[in-house]
Amino acid sequence: MSDVYLNSDRLAVSCRGVTKVYGRGNNAVMALRGVDLDVPMGELSLLVGPSGCGKTTLLSVIAGILEPSEGTVAVVGTDLSRLSNAQKVAFRGRNIGFVFQQFNLLPALSAAENVAVPGIILGMPRRAAVQRGAEVLASIGMGDRINSLPQNLSGGQQQRVAIARALMHEPSLLVCDEPTSALDARNGQLIMELLREIAMQANRAVVVVTHDSRVFEFGDRIAYMDDGHIQRIEIQDLSHRSPLTIGH
Ligand code: ADP
Repeated sequence: MSDVYLNSDRLAVSCRGVTKVYGRGNNAVMALRGVDLDVPMGELSLLVGPSGCGKTTLLSVIAGILEPSEGTVAVVGTDLSRLSNAQKVAFRGRNIGFVFQQFNLLPALSAAENVAVPGIILGMPRRAAVQRGAEVLASIGMGDRINSLPQNLSGGQQQRVAIARALMHEPSLLVCDEPTSALDARNGQLIMELLREIAMQANRAVVVVTHDSRVFEFGDRIAYMDDGHIQRIEIQDLSHRSPLTIGH
């Protein structure tokens, strides 16, 4: 497959003039009204704003799940509008990982087996996939829980397993929709610290949609949205932060 590369190697995402209209005629809802957004590699970017302002729509457009009505979206240098649906599915499979509010773990499978599922679906032999799943879990401080069933893990630990599952295919871009909403304050902070550490890895970026103002402090970049627009972007210098607490 031939991806279309733009001159934006250091950008994980670049949106220009993105609009999204749901429905038609009298029922039309303009969810995005011309969004320009750059997401640099190596950063954790937050999309924040009141309910209904377009955060999830923008995240879905960035992730190639939803077509914009107008405008362009490039992800790791690939213009998504130039890809067929099948190419888009393949592109997502290679480049994008997803984390949701609900952990969606399979209850009968161990942590390592849950992480292995995307690898098995992509054709990896089961044993190798579970081994790799265990390694990914260890890399995010969950090495001692690889054999645990989800029911024996806390909410924060379950979200870590879901994050490991999203990292299984080593995506350049991790998109997370309200990843802390189901967690208490402490676990929410730990998950954000983990996501920030992941974002700082080479050739990787993390975009988080959240309405949880308790986690704003973890964003290198905060895009404040309102009524389909990005009103302003705040850049926070987090370099003073002490080494992150992976695995604690
Ligand atoms: P947020 O994530 O900030 O809560 P959304 O992106 O979910 O906002 O929604 C933005 C606007 O688009 C809202 O007015 C919402 O009602 C509308 N909307 C979202 N999804 C659909 C849909 N599938 N069909 C019609 N309207 C939608």
